[in-house]
Amino acid sequence: MEKCVFCDSDLLPGSEEHVFLSALGGKIATYRALCEPCNNAFANAQTGKVDDALAKGFDELRNGLKIWSGRNGPPPTLIKAGTTPEGIEFDLAPGFVPVVRAGRLPNQLPVGSEHTLAARDEADAKRMLDILAKRGISAKVGSATHVQKKVGQVHRSLSFDGPKIWRSIAKTAIVSFVVLYGNEQARRFVSPELRRAVRHGTPNIANFAGWDFTNEWPAVVSLEPHSKTPQARPSGFEHSVVIADVGENSVAYVTLFGGFRFSGVLGTRTHLTVRGLAINPRAPRPARFIVNARAPERYAPRYDGSLASEQAQVQGGIQQAFGYAMQTWQEEAHASYAEELANDLRAGIEQAGESEAARTLAINEFVMKLAEVELGSGWSTDLGNLFIEDDQ
Ligand SMILES: [Zn+2]
Repeated sequence: MEKCVFCDSDLLPGSEEHVFLSALGGKIATYRALCEPCNNAFANAQTGKVDDALAKGFDELRNGLKIWSGRNGPPPTLIKAGTTPEGIEFDLAPGFVPVVRAGRLPNQLPVGSEHTLAARDEADAKRMLDILAKRGISAKVGSATHVQKKVGQVHRSLSFDGPKIWRSIAKTAIVSFVVLYGNEQARRFVSPELRRAVRHGTPNIANFAGWDFTNEWPAVVSLEPHSKTPQARPSGFEHSVVIADVGENSVAYVTLFGGFRFSGVLGTRTHLTVRGLAINPRAPRPARFIVNARAPERYAPRYDGSLASEQAQVQGGIQQAFGYAMQTWQEEAHASYAEELANDLRAGIEQAGESEAARTLAINEFVMKLAEVELGSGWSTDLGNLFIEDDQ
């Protein structure tokens, strides 16, 4: 009989557990690891929302790289992500696409006063004028411009709440053990202390596992698509786990998004062969790999003070992994903006029809917009008296 790896209750059957969090784009799950109460405990408020902490830590990255959840939920939108130099608040839609927040009207509008208001779009501007009309205020729109701008570098700090996040990642390591070697082997080899630390928070998870940018990592010999997902292709942002005997320990090496490294001692030496699995969280369909890896020769276990003594390495490693993701986003965002402009150009040429002058105008406008954006400034189009109809 297979039993829950955390409380030893019989699995009849177990509860669906994503090996890598669904929120991180995990699309493989197993029923052979956890019972339902244990599974739910990782999401509960009473037990600290361990899985949420991990998901939130990667909000920016999931947004920028447009990572859909394993349950087909859209990437997160970053609310009130920033303010433009003109003081306009925006959210970031998936892909770091800035979306101006719905416009706000000042509470005090003295008669005869002039205001510059920002609206998300035409409909939002009309809505604001309607509100003014209901307040009995007659507003005259002087001028309106449509501003196009590519969002600049997004500087956001990563917050990785230590113990909760580590418990969630260590759970991934234990569930991976079940997937790679079976339920019985997992219960035989994964130490009860680690299982308690992951499930209950005591003993302290820091004594077993944590971020690791100091130990040598397993050398990946090959990454083969799993037989269930023969079309799988890597993106460079894989989540992976390798489990290997190193010295007297069984060690789990977990890498998230291709660069966020985490390791932990699962228990004593198992004499099992090195095994690993990986997934590509950016793939729209499940994309799973078998990782063939060679174990490092030595391993310095994580301990209570690891984070404090290795802070510089951890900071550096996390910044580097995040920087790589941001660089990818920059390239992709650039490509999609250029595509948007190219679509405008096509429409402009179509509209121009036989008119050579109109065609030249459309092409000139395209070239100027592209150049403006390359130089980092914005582009605005005068909307003329578009809203004057609301004048009362
Ligand atoms: Zn259980």
